[in-house]
Amino acid sequence: MSIYLDHNSSSPLHPEVFEAMLPFLKDPAGNPSSLHSCGRMARSAVENARAEVAQLIGCDSTAVIFTSGGTEANNMLLKGYVDHASQRPLVSSRIEHASVLEPLKQLQAEGMNVILLESDPDGRVDLGAASIVLETADAQLLSIIFANNETGVIQPVEELAAMVTRDSCLVHCDATQAIGKIPIDMASLPIDAISFSAHKLRGPQGIGALVVGRKPGALLIAGGDQENKRRGGTENVAAIVGMGKAVQLARLEMDRKRHHLSQLRDAFEARLANMPGSVVFGQAAPRLPNTTFFALPYYHGETLLMELDRAGFAVASGSACHSAVTEPSHVLKAMGVDDMLALNAIRVSFGMDNSLQDVEQLATKLQQLVDSLPAVIRQAAV
Ligand code: PMP
Repeated sequence: MSIYLDHNSSSPLHPEVFEAMLPFLKDPAGNPSSLHSCGRMARSAVENARAEVAQLIGCDSTAVIFTSGGTEANNMLLKGYVDHASQRPLVSSRIEHASVLEPLKQLQAEGMNVILLESDPDGRVDLGAASIVLETADAQLLSIIFANNETGVIQPVEELAAMVTRDSCLVHCDATQAIGKIPIDMASLPIDAISFSAHKLRGPQGIGALVVGRKPGALLIAGGDQENKRRGGTENVAAIVGMGKAVQLARLEMDRKRHHLSQLRDAFEARLANMPGSVVFGQAAPRLPNTTFFALPYYHGETLLMELDRAGFAVASGSACHSAVTEPSHVLKAMGVDDMLALNAIRVSFGMDNSLQDVEQLATKLQQLVDSLPAVIRQAAV
């Protein structure tokens, strides 16, 4: 059984989430739109889950639209809540997830004006450069990742939102990695819309939400009147119930979780610091408590990933494989990291099922791999 250290990719279902979902998988769940008692039970389960999401992030439950995950929520917001006929720009950043960058590319190909803000070397959107853009751009949309999935770096969302005209510019955050790991309160933040996904916080895969309080957008999935006429299709009741339980647990466990995860991350980074030439990307910026994105200058990321996998550790590499060509991470590129170093990047993302013992075992394995290299290679890295 491997030690799972890839919680930013997907996190294991919480046992209480599994228990909460079971009755809706085993018994006739009922269609929430049906009028009989089975249907009414399903409707009430969906609405309870919606109220839990609203409570976690401090919004009105009428603003919550259940989707199939973060990707759909981002697409729904970007394609459904912008004025396609307007030349007022859509502003985002170079360090977004593909589920924001790709729809933006499509919108740009359709003739919309898209501007991507630069990152600073620490992995935060560069505020100086952003102010020059935002103070003159008259943006209709500002979409910023709340915390980056690779580096874990938390973005200066409030500072950026202060640079736009709030009445006419919709401020959206892809909070898929941040929700459940750090507190987010929409009532006190200058944010109009949030996307996220349940499987990053120990809920089931294939369910997420777009939370948007403002005017209804264009309907992307037309059909029935579900989700207050904002997304057609019979609701995935069991998954929604699981998401409701997962966000409830995330709310109740937030402080304990932040303490435990940051303890693991700090212990791991203390061990990494002893490995010659190691680099932790974004270390100087505020980060999620569970994420370490690092490189050892003498180990290619994918080779290291496979070595670790063979030794029983599941981690992620920072690069993406396109048609058999390995590309360095676009986030590290935006941060100005040299391609050779970026290709060595590995992401470790801890979860509540990890312990200091797991950290110790991982660090020991890494140290063994480093020690097994010829001294001349290790010394060249210092
Ligand atoms: N945004 C971010 C920041 C993510 O990390 C992910 C998942 N890797 C997504 C969006 C997409 O979420 P989903 O897998 O639920 O579609």
